Amino acid sequence: MSITAEHLRTWLERFHDEILEHKDELTDLDQAIGDGDHGINMARGVKEMHKMLNGKSFDAPGDLLKAVSMTFIGKIGGASGPLYGSALMKMASRASSDETLTEEEWINVLEAGKVAIQQRGKAETGEKTMVDVWAPLIERFQKQKEIDWQLFQTTAEELMQSTKEMHAKKGRAAYLGARSVGHIDPGAMSSYLFFKTLAETLQE
Ligand code: ADP
Ligand code: MG
Ligand code: MG
Repeated sequence: MSITAEHLRTWLERFHDEILEHKDELTDLDQAIGDGDHGINMARGVKEMHKMLNGKSFDAPGDLLKAVSMTFIGKIGGASGPLYGSALMKMASRASSDETLTEEEWINVLEAGKVAIQQRGKAETGEKTMVDVWAPLIERFQKQKEIDWQLFQTTAEELMQSTKEMHAKKGRAAYLGARSVGHIDPGAMSSYLFFKTLAETLQE
């Protein structure tokens, strides 16, 4: 399939809906191991994104990603704002000005986002952060010519669940040490929603 700016718009509007639907759950997870604002931070970001998207049209996926990155950097705040924002910023530059992307190219765009998150936050896998969803998911599907989006989605869900038993080593949850075990990482959950809504959009 060839991926256009319109696909990305549909995807990110779904992401907006899912974040608002799960806002309290994200906040509860962050209450357990952080400062209880992840749902609030993400909801603020996606609402601004929704407004911004409604006022603009985009010819290329990269143009849309760039605009969303600016909104996220400006509006989400916390640790997660700069992480999602720089991911989308690097995804925009990897997408360049091409008007359509193949699935293989699109996975490379996602990979640029993963690299940006790790450069910025310095987290490795196993440290109970959003990296535990981004990194193994993208590594698993990279270099495939066609993606099984259903499998992509279930893999993202399993990776989110896998953070439950991890001991946090990065972010605020690291202050809790072993007491962070037993709770899903909030950023892993919002990242799961990011990839789930992507998979749903590209499956159609
Ligand atoms: P804050 O911790 O500043 O309140 P949020 O609550 O919005 O910010 O986001 C918390 C999430 O950010 C965590 O659940 C985790 O997934 C992610 N996170 C925090 N620090 C890092 C890091 N260094 N690398 C990757 N992800 C991180
Ligand atoms: Mg927080
Ligand atoms: Mg905070």
